[in-house]
Amino acid sequence: MSNLHRFGKSGFLKSLGLCGVLLVCSYIAAAQVPSPKSVLGFTPTDDKTIADWRQINDYFVKLDKASNKVAVKEIGKSTNGKPLIVAFISSPDNIKNLEKYRQISARLADPRTVKSESELADLIKNGKTIVSISCSIHSTEIVASQMSMNLAYELATATDADTKEILDNTILLLIPSPNPDGIDIVADWYRKTLGTKSEGTAPPELYHHYAGHDDNRDWFMLNLVETQAITKLFWQQWFPQLVYDVHQQGSNASRFIIPPFFDPPNPRVAPSILREVGLIGYKMAADLQAKRY
Ligand SMILES: [Zn+2]
Repeated sequence: MSNLHRFGKSGFLKSLGLCGVLLVCSYIAAAQVPSPKSVLGFTPTDDKTIADWRQINDYFVKLDKASNKVAVKEIGKSTNGKPLIVAFISSPDNIKNLEKYRQISARLADPRTVKSESELADLIKNGKTIVSISCSIHSTEIVASQMSMNLAYELATATDADTKEILDNTILLLIPSPNPDGIDIVADWYRKTLGTKSEGTAPPELYHHYAGHDDNRDWFMLNLVETQAITKLFWQQWFPQLVYDVHQQGSNASRFIIPPFFDPPNPRVAPSILREVGLIGYKMAADLQAKRY
C-alpha cells in the first residue's frame, strides 16, 4: 500500500553525522513501539488467526501511547455502541500540527476560502497530502482490518528513506474498520466454526444490523451512524485527496485490481481525476512488477 505514495525522489540526509544520530533515535523509538504480535499473541493476517474489534481497538490505543507518529481518535460509536476510530499516521512534526494541516486541506477543497493565486500557491506548498485508507467495510472481507495493524506498525517503526518521505509529505487517516460490529460478528463466527465443516462460511446473520452488505451503499443517503461519522470526518473536516476503500474478493476472483479501471468511466467524475487515478495505478503496477522480477 505504501507504494501508492512513492512518487518523486527519495529524500537524502545531508550529513552522515546527522544520519547516525537519527538512526540511533529511530531505533530507540522503534524498540518501544509494540508490534501487533506482542499485543495480540499472533501476527495479524497469518492463517487461522483473527482479531476481533476489542483486540484491534486495544492495539491502536497502545500504538497511540507509544508512538509520536500515531494519534488515534474516536469519531463516534457504531450501531451497537462500539468505538469507531481513526488513526492519524504521519511524521511527529505533522502529528503535532494536525489542526493546521486540516485547515489547509479544508481551504484547498473550497475555492471560496482562497482569495488569490499566491494564497493558493502557498496553501499547496505548505499543505500535506491527505490520504485515507478504510478497511473491510464489508466485514467478511476481513483481511484489510487485520492488515491495518501491520501497516500502522510498519509506518510507525520503519526507518528507510521512502517511509520517511511518505510520512513527511502525507497524513494518513487509517480507518481499521468503518463497521466494528461486523468485525465481531465475523470473528465470533470464525472462531466458533474453526476446525468444523462450517469453517470459512459466512455468518448466519447480517454483519451490519440494519444494512448488511449494503452498508457501502449508504454514502448518498447517510442513514447509518457509521456513514454519518465518516462522511463528517471526510467532507466536513479533512477533505482527503485520496480515499482508498479496501475490499476483497473470494478465492475464485481477481487477486488484485488496480487502476486504470475498465471503460466506461463514470461521466460525473472529472476526466483529469480519472487520469490521475490511472497514474497511481501505473505506479502501483510498476512497483509490484519490480518486486516480481
Ligand atoms: Zn466489498
